[in-house]
Amino acid sequence: MPTNDYSSSPSAGPEITLSGPDITDLEIEAVVRVLRSGRLSIGPMQEAFEALVSEAAGCDHGVAVSSGTCGLHLALLALGIGPGDEVITTPFSFVASANAILYVGATPKFVDICPRSLNMDPEKVERAIGPRTKAILAVEALGNPTHMDRYAAIAAKHEIHLVEDCCEALGTSYNGRKCGSFGRVGVFGFYPNKQITTGEGGMIVTDDPHLADMCRSLRNQGRPMPADPATTTAGATGLGVWLAHERLGYNYRLSEIACALGVAQMRRLDRIIDARRRVAVEYLNRLMDIPGIILPTIESGTSMSWFVFTVRLERGYTSEERDRVIQGLRNHDVGCAPYFPCIHLMPEYVRRFGYERGSFPIAESVSDRTIALPFHNHLTERDIDMVAQTLSLMLTRENLARG
Ligand SMILES: *Cc1c(COP(=O)(O)O)cnc(C)c1O
Repeated sequence: MPTNDYSSSPSAGPEITLSGPDITDLEIEAVVRVLRSGRLSIGPMQEAFEALVSEAAGCDHGVAVSSGTCGLHLALLALGIGPGDEVITTPFSFVASANAILYVGATPKFVDICPRSLNMDPEKVERAIGPRTKAILAVEALGNPTHMDRYAAIAAKHEIHLVEDCCEALGTSYNGRKCGSFGRVGVFGFYPNKQITTGEGGMIVTDDPHLADMCRSLRNQGRPMPADPATTTAGATGLGVWLAHERLGYNYRLSEIACALGVAQMRRLDRIIDARRRVAVEYLNRLMDIPGIILPTIESGTSMSWFVFTVRLERGYTSEERDRVIQGLRNHDVGCAPYFPCIHLMPEYVRRFGYERGSFPIAESVSDRTIALPFHNHLTERDIDMVAQTLSLMLTRENLARG
């Protein structure tokens, strides 16, 4: 099973991998059918995939793109966010969520997180809003949707946009509302470690038909959307609109091959999520009695689809100790990773904005002590038991080393 981890290098030997896609013959057949059809881009699979994901997110429109990162880029562009604008976001996320803000020339304004939900503290979000703030870019960190309704209310009150980076939350709902539908626009990602995968891929979801059309135009080289004058002019002259480029666009399209894989995955979404829940519950039961670790807190009203399974070492453990525990687990062929290193401390952000340790102490403290454990649908009870025993052993070793 390949490792699909952003941050660890592949190790030798049989490994309980950090992640692994849930691919069956149905997916393989779907991809082969597309290859045999001869239609490899912009076709029925894209349309079907967009319909399935937007429905699962409780939104009217879906726009398939070549990655979650591209989706975030287009979402911000389509909202007209650019140089001089500020976007409030979290330092505790995968780097792509803040990078998208830099792509459009806007400035990320980080706010610290809540130590339980690991999402932005809503009060700090509201306090951070200033005259240049155009949007809140909120992330369901590690798939946890807590506070999404609060961010939506704050955005509405201050008449700014809520962009939902729901890349880690496909199939999750919060107080009866599906993730993806909290913001003006939401973005999913389908890298192989996510709930479903297209190899690489992403999806923008929204209820706003104009915003969806704008994203479709931007993903496809700026080709006209229905509201553009070129659409009607070209139609009138019969020249077609294919080489009319209304605006600066990109090639962020997702191939029919990838979309077919996505369709097959979406048709099994409920089963895939049930399997992830089973693994998560198994972990919760198995890890409950291990001293020194904090398990994920899932608020009532949350139906989790489980992106990853993380544990946090208790306060008092240092990042060096956490790193030794990770190294020890890896030495025992247990794939794991420090999800997430804080974005504001990454070199590009330090260079641009001069952040330092202490800028966002809660995010830093959580980030220093968190470990993502192997998490995918192929894990057996024996695997989980192995992970738990090895983790327990590594913690005991750390405690003994302290004397
Ligand atoms: C996975 C992920 C993305 C983007 O993913 P891609 O690899 O570009 O598809 C963005 N934000 C978060 C929080 C993610 O976890």
